[in-house]
Amino acid sequence: ADQAIGDGDHGIGMARGFKAVLLTLDKQTGEQSPGKIFAAVGNAILSNAGGASGAVFGTFFRGVGKALTSELVDLKALAAAFDQGAKAVMARGNAKPGDKTMLDALAPAVDAINHAQTEAPAKAFRIAAAAARTGAEATSIMIAGTGRAKMLGQRSIGFIDPGALTMTLVFEGMASCLNKLGPSEFATPNHDANS
Ligand code: ADP
Ligand code: MG
Repeated sequence: ADQAIGDGDHGIGMARGFKAVLLTLDKQTGEQSPGKIFAAVGNAILSNAGGASGAVFGTFFRGVGKALTSELVDLKALAAAFDQGAKAVMARGNAKPGDKTMLDALAPAVDAINHAQTEAPAKAFRIAAAAARTGAEATSIMIAGTGRAKMLGQRSIGFIDPGALTMTLVFEGMASCLNKLGPSEFATPNHDANS
């Protein structure tokens, strides 16, 4: 995707960043709070991915981590923390939804979790991942308002934003993890195991 409307390095940078994330998570010892884990993920991306996406994805995960202050996390807290992460990205990069960036996948995913608070976590994240994908696909008709693709103007139409695709993969990954873990691994005081 970044070869079409950028310089072709987005996937390379993200792969490097998320490999560093895995190494970082492997090195974590003992029980860590969700906030610390998200912050460590963000720091690993910030120090390793490079490019505009390294800065914005790193800032996103760090922003989520900063907002997650409790040891037990439910969907309400996660939705609020993801929203803070999105706000941190907007503050850092001056983009907003509609500018054809990862925010166009992130914003609808956060909305979806907000609206799915009464669902089981795995289902809420499946809904969020679907919303992220729809949001990413919608970037195809947008004119880039920021980043390298902005220089293309109208010529950015017809291509999906690479960062929005990556953000979709992030939510799909989280949904698939929650599916594998099952409800018992998640703070769900209002749900029984079959919900
Ligand atoms: P570059 O090669 O321009 O340094 P990357 O290829 O690493 O950047 O990443 C490009 C992606 O970064 C874009 O597809 C977009 O989703 C995201 N991006 C770029 N600038 C911003 C910004 N200001 N706010 C949010 N996301 C951004
Ligand atoms: Mg690039």
